[in-house]
Amino acid sequence: MAVVGVLALQGSFNEHIAGKLHLFSLRKIGVKGIEIRKPEQLRDVTSLIIPGGESTTMAKLAELHNLFPALREFVKMGRPVWGTCAGLIFLANKATGQKTGGQQLVGGLDCTVHRNFFGSQIQSFEAELPVPELASKEGGPETFRGIFIRAPAILEVGPEVQVLADFPVPSKRLLGSDPSLEDQKENDEEESKVIVAVRQGNTLGTAFHPELTADTRWHSYFLKMGNEITEAASRSCVPVEVSVCHKQPPQNDLPIFQ
Ligand code: GLN
Repeated sequence: MAVVGVLALQGSFNEHIAGKLHLFSLRKIGVKGIEIRKPEQLRDVTSLIIPGGESTTMAKLAELHNLFPALREFVKMGRPVWGTCAGLIFLANKATGQKTGGQQLVGGLDCTVHRNFFGSQIQSFEAELPVPELASKEGGPETFRGIFIRAPAILEVGPEVQVLADFPVPSKRLLGSDPSLEDQKENDEEESKVIVAVRQGNTLGTAFHPELTADTRWHSYFLKMGNEITEAASRSCVPVEVSVCHKQPPQNDLPIFQ
């Protein structure tokens, strides 16, 4: 049985492992999820999910448990890592809209994420997202029901990042005006798009919560990423660790102020 680590400091780690009804996510696709709380536990897994929750709190707990160096090493080694929502913020090289004092990031995913881009808890929403890449790899419908809870959005990506889903927003939102969606006047808006799902090599990021739906395609997509990476490494006869260890560490842990 395949094994995936799930960072279990805070947030929706259990939903990734088993789902509320023990029907969803990893368990539904026959994968064992292991809760990760200590750096040394990362040695027992070859891939990792960083769940949604509250990224500032999660970062404080990760600092307390001295997890950041091991998490950064895990990403740099080329191991598959998927961040959902707060987990996406963790993986981003840069985050904006953080609490005063900023927070540490793991980094590795070449993008800028705006924390709470879509507003507060009461502005949470669900939307059908076109997901052509997911549908072509995993089959099923051309859209995926995204559950956005105090969700971040990706505002910029580097050249190596593949965009897997985006979402329309009024253009004004991207010009640094009032961040509250409620305050937007209708009819006088041009539409732009923000990015809500990306992949860069071994890293996957989704601004929404696939673990809260019964559609397991993102979980199986992530699992296949692991298989692809292992196969590519064995074809080139170079261990994954060695092939990527010369990469520069991301410049990501300066505090970023709002
Ligand atoms: N915006 C939240 C944060 O900053 C993340 C929300 C979520 O994971 N549902 O942590």
